[in-house]
Order: sequence, then structure tokens, then C-alpha cells
Amino acid sequence: MIPLSTDDLPWFCDDGDPALAERLRAAAPALAAAEDAVDEPARDRAAVAALAEAGLFGLVAPADGQVRARSLCLARELLGWTNARADSIFAVQGLGVHPLLLAGSAEQRAAIPAFAQGREVAAFALTEPEAGSDVAAIAASARRDGEHYVLEGDKLFISNLGVARHATVFAQLVHEWLGVPFETISSMTGVEQLDLLDADRSVVIARGQDGSRSLSAVALP
Ligand SMILES: Cc1cc2nc3c(=O)[nH]c(=O)nc-3n(C[C@H](O)[C@H](O)[C@H](O)COP(=O)(O)OP(=O)(O)OC[C@H]3O[C@@H](n4cnc5c(N)ncnc54)[C@H](O)[C@@H]3O)c2cc1C
Repeated sequence: MIPLSTDDLPWFCDDGDPALAERLRAAAPALAAAEDAVDEPARDRAAVAALAEAGLFGLVAPADGQVRARSLCLARELLGWTNARADSIFAVQGLGVHPLLLAGSAEQRAAIPAFAQGREVAAFALTEPEAGSDVAAIAASARRDGEHYVLEGDKLFISNLGVARHATVFAQLVHEWLGVPFETISSMTGVEQLDLLDADRSVVIARGQDGSRSLSAVALP
């Protein structure tokens, strides 16, 4: 039997945890079998299907918006034993969806059940050639253009793009009429209120990247 924290740390668990542990163990054979698919893209898709079939994506995209960290730990323990690919896809789905839980618009939040069921997969596009640990150095920009944002910049090391149709993209907001980065505006005096309005919108959701890792001039719905 695959060992999980519910076995040796029961005092940290509540009533739901043993049931989740059993559900995870029941899903283990299908998760492991996903690696038997013929090639890498097929293995990615099979891992998504196995995670969806087990209902695990619901842990990172819960209907009530309350992610339970201990449930994530149990799931990742099991995935670590059975299928590292599925573990990565699961973790990045959480990274991509969590900004929607925290700050998504009503339209964006309406998509959360599709992520919970694995019908949609998210990516998380933060890292750039010159910005990894140093997140403040991101140079990708988002500029409001009528109904859309226009993104410009480059991202790399973005997991899940092979199976994702959505990405949470991190960018510096560029003020449309001054045309200078938000960081620059915020250091100026007299425009704090304007900047605060924009600061809430620094997370932008892009659709349909067609697998491309460049965000150059992407118009967002
Ligand atoms: C398999 C894989 C999947 C990934 N998936 C994604 C993804 O889905 N989305 C995404 O956005 N990114 C992803 N990344 C990128 C990952 O998040 C970055 O690689 C990470 O943030 C580190 O950035 P970096 O590679 O630029 O290294 P750097 O930030 O340049 O760090 C290099 C080294 O310097 C050290 N270092 C950095 N800053 C300091 C400091 N101030 N003091 C002391 N030491 C320091 C670091 O610890 C490290 O050892 C992925 C990376 C890998 C390997």
C-alpha cells in the first residue's frame, strides 16, 4: 500500500483526509498506467485524463474557492509515488487557476468548473529570459487597447502548454496614455489613485496561445 501522511501523521488529519487517501490510492493504477501511452503528448493527455477521472483537479479548483493545503499535500504525495508527470500537471493547474480564485472576473470564475473537471487545463506564465527568482524584473507588458489588453514580451519554461488552452500571464501594466511601465508611474507623485485602480488588474488571462511561448502583440478577449 502506498504510504501517505494519513498513516503516520494522523493527528494532523481531519475526518476527510482518510477518505481522500483511499480515493487517491484507488486512482493510483490508472495514474501509473498513463505513462504507458505511446509518446510524450499522449502521455500528457493520458495523465490529464487520469487526474480528471479521479476528480483530483477539483482539489486545486474547488467550487467553494477554498483550497485545502493538506489535501494538496496528500495528492502530491500519491502523485510523487505514481506519476511525476501527473504531479507536475496537477501542480501547474493549481498555479494557473489560483489567480482566478483570488481575483478573477465573474466571466473568468465561470470557467473554474471546467478546470475542476479537467475539461480545461491552465498554464502559469511568469518566468522570462531575464526574470526567474527575481519576479519583479518581469519585462512583459500589458497595455489596454479598447476592449482588449495587448501583451508584449517573452516567456520561457512554461509547463502545461502542451495540454493547456489557457494561461495566467504575468505582465507589467503599461498606462495607456503615458505609455510607461506601471512601476514607473507608481513612483511619480499625484497619480496614486489612478495606479491603485490599475493595480488590481495586473493578472491577465490569455487564451489560445497555440503552443507559442511568445506573447508578442497578443490581443486578449
Ligand atoms: C521543470 C521546470 C518547469 C518550470 N515551469 C515553469 C512554469 O510553468 N511557469 C513559469 O513561470 N516558470 C517555470 N519554470 C521556471 C522556474 O520557475 C524558474 O527556473 C525559477 O523561478 C528560477 O529562475 P531562473 O531559472 O531564472 O534562475 P535564477 O533566478 O537566475 O537563479 C539561478 C540561481 O541563483 C540563485 N539565486 C537567485 N536569486 C538569488 C538571490 N537573491 N540570492 C541568492 N541566490 C539567488 C537561485 O537559487 C539559483 O540557484 C520552470 C522551471 C523548470 C526547471
